[in-house]
Amino acid sequence: MDDRSGGGERVVLIHVNFPVGKMEEDLAEFKELAISAGAEIVGIVTGTRRVPESKYFVGSGKAEEIRDVVLASNAQLVIFNHVLTPAQERNLEQLIHCRVLDRTGLILDIFAQRARSFEGKLQVELAFLKRQSTRLVRGWTHLERQRGGIGLRGGPGETQLEVDRRLIRNKIKQITLSLNKIRKQREQGRRARRKAIIPTIALVGYTNAGKSTLFNRLTGSLVYVANQLFATLDPTLRRVDFPEYGSVIFADTVGFIRHLPHDLVEAFHATLEEVSEADLLLHIVDASDENRNTRIEQVNEVLETIHAKEVPSIIVYNKIDLSTDLQPKIERDESGRIKRVFISASKGHGMAELGVVIGEMLGKNMITTEVVLVPKQAKLRSKLYSRHAVIFEKIDEEGNHHLSIRLPQVDFDKLFLEEKREE
Ligand code: GDP
Repeated sequence: MDDRSGGGERVVLIHVNFPVGKMEEDLAEFKELAISAGAEIVGIVTGTRRVPESKYFVGSGKAEEIRDVVLASNAQLVIFNHVLTPAQERNLEQLIHCRVLDRTGLILDIFAQRARSFEGKLQVELAFLKRQSTRLVRGWTHLERQRGGIGLRGGPGETQLEVDRRLIRNKIKQITLSLNKIRKQREQGRRARRKAIIPTIALVGYTNAGKSTLFNRLTGSLVYVANQLFATLDPTLRRVDFPEYGSVIFADTVGFIRHLPHDLVEAFHATLEEVSEADLLLHIVDASDENRNTRIEQVNEVLETIHAKEVPSIIVYNKIDLSTDLQPKIERDESGRIKRVFISASKGHGMAELGVVIGEMLGKNMITTEVVLVPKQAKLRSKLYSRHAVIFEKIDEEGNHHLSIRLPQVDFDKLFLEEKREE
């Protein structure tokens, strides 16, 4: 038995094909998402429409069919693979007598389960409240329960709806303030890294491609790895010192799915900032996935939305151990530019090749040279040490430091240019 599908709510999935236009969603991905949220799928209803119907999203005949399936399968929840209006959700619930969740609600639910950092949790809550505030018409009974019946704080004559609106507004304000504070801290961290000239490499890719596995392999750290969508919601940063080209920071990021609802993209912007500000993206692809080319397109779509298309990126074909005819290698085009690199993150194959690719992509031509620093250049000396660039050091009678150093050419240029400017 698939251990990911057991024990959850009994769910009926609704998937509508729209042959015309851009509303096409992917049924296989939808099932993965639902299972990932902990659902036990007890029924799937599909249909085809030209455009959504305003009352139930589907036609009334189809809505009745859904009701019958829910009854027969004793389901507790209906999930649509589409975005519903609050009115459509309400109408459906009234007809089917069962809770109805749309695609945005489902993804939000997964985000809520997966958020691990304080920031991630706040972002989920914010997205949830913003959504709730547009759905208050039917949401107030739920809030009333949450308030536990403790005396109304609103003034006389204030309706339940107004009280709820005010509660939500205040909460949104509070969370936004906390988030701004965290964002500032994050920005400071980024500035500190830039100052130390440590490049950031962000791992992006479709869910389940193997980002966390590679991240662990590269950084030796224990990040939660699971065969679930969105196992990593928050970017996790780790510094790695490569002997060949110095330090880099790796950022593990959220799992990408296509058509991430727009308000969620916005809500998760802060966690994705690491991606748009990275020096290099490793786009991890599951080489054993027959839909890999579509997945690559889908990830590129999200990268475009978060303005990360300009960041240099390379395709990393992962899981080559699952195929008999793939070996670790670097693939180049006719002009010698890197096209792809083939690895297996879980087996650790192709790590040397990946190292070469990273070094080359970051423009890390290493140089070994000797410099003499006068005593007042102590700051530069400590910068060289913090870059792990010093191989050997000798001090003469005048207190000058004779250093043998090895570091990337670009870092050398930057450090010594800065030094000149400060003189
Ligand atoms: P993420 O969602 O991109 O972070 O993916 P994970 O790192 O959580 O990996 C998803 C699944 O693929 C896990 O079950 C991993 O054990 C598996 N996996 C990752 N890399 C490899 C690999 O190189 N070979 C094989 N066979 N499985 C892998």
